[in-house]
Amino acid sequence: MSEAAVIKSPSTEGRFGHAMLKVEGLRRYFDVSAPWLNRVIGRQPRQILKAVDGIDFEIARGETFGLVGESGCGKSTVARLIVGLHGPTDGSITLEGRNIAGLTRRQMAPMRRRLQMIFQDPYASLNPRWRVRDIIAEPIRAFDLVSGDQAIATRVGELLTFVGLNPLDGEKFPHEFSGGQRQRISIARALASEPEFLVCDEPTSALDVSVQAQILNLMKDLQRELGLTYLFISHNLAVVYHISDRVGVMYLGKLVEVAPSKTLFTTPRHPYTRMLLDTIPDLDMTGRERMPVAGEVPNPITPPPGCSFHPRCPFANDRCRVEAPKALPVSGGATVACHGVEEGRVPSGPILAPPPKPDGVASVHG
Ligand code: SF4
Repeated sequence: MSEAAVIKSPSTEGRFGHAMLKVEGLRRYFDVSAPWLNRVIGRQPRQILKAVDGIDFEIARGETFGLVGESGCGKSTVARLIVGLHGPTDGSITLEGRNIAGLTRRQMAPMRRRLQMIFQDPYASLNPRWRVRDIIAEPIRAFDLVSGDQAIATRVGELLTFVGLNPLDGEKFPHEFSGGQRQRISIARALASEPEFLVCDEPTSALDVSVQAQILNLMKDLQRELGLTYLFISHNLAVVYHISDRVGVMYLGKLVEVAPSKTLFTTPRHPYTRMLLDTIPDLDMTGRERMPVAGEVPNPITPPPGCSFHPRCPFANDRCRVEAPKALPVSGGATVACHGVEEGRVPSGPILAPPPKPDGVASVHG
């Protein structure tokens, strides 16, 4: 396994205990080649998309780990690998000491109760032909958590109340609710199996800003009350900052920086992290110098050699063009994969004030 650009997450020290989830050397490649006959006739080579290319991180019980990056960086593939919707090409995913990577559906069944996912589009993830009470009761029945129709109905009512809906809403169908209410139903369904770990893949991106804040605050309240652990995936940096304890930044299938949220947002090290942060509006009009957003994300099927960020990086030199950087620990509990940071060529922060709070979101950082 190449060590290039693999970040060992500095992790779970501080107010959190031992690692609940540990991801090591995780890779997922997709064969996106044209059909065999077309390839032979057109003399085309096989094409392999390295969606996730050797990432390491860990998440402690009760912690929220945010994963950010531009569209196509592989963050949603990480989510799907963790809940078993994809099998990995290589690497391990350890949940409380047990490797769950590549388990069959049957082997995964007992783990699935503990590990649930909340999707971006709540409408697509809810069966439109089922009443809400049946949608929420399904995992309760599947995992045999409560027996008897009356007890199940009571539990469904409790879950609806828990997420801010009325128990009578159980009689309705998903199309009778707004987007925010549907996401509440998705959360109630995820909680129905009494999970310990929630993978949240862009859970608020399809919602209006004011509704986003309500859902984020609900998720944080639930985490406090139920001791949940979150992997929170989003392209919205301000949201990630306010909900996460630590953040990992992904670029073309690799983690380029992992740091506690405050450190990452006030003292970003990796040029890509700085580029992403510079897209957040400077509402205080501080006039701070911004790093220009340069170029497009390269084709992930043919990523650039060396550091895959080098075509867009203003600090790139000859070494960057041939040698992939290794992850190195830096101050503030962060880890960065960048030759420029290692050589002291990239100026370090602080360059930013933390991002403004999205309307109505209570920050974990006070
Ligand atoms: Fe990559 Fe070099 Fe830029 Fe660091 S300085 S991000 S290694 S191109």
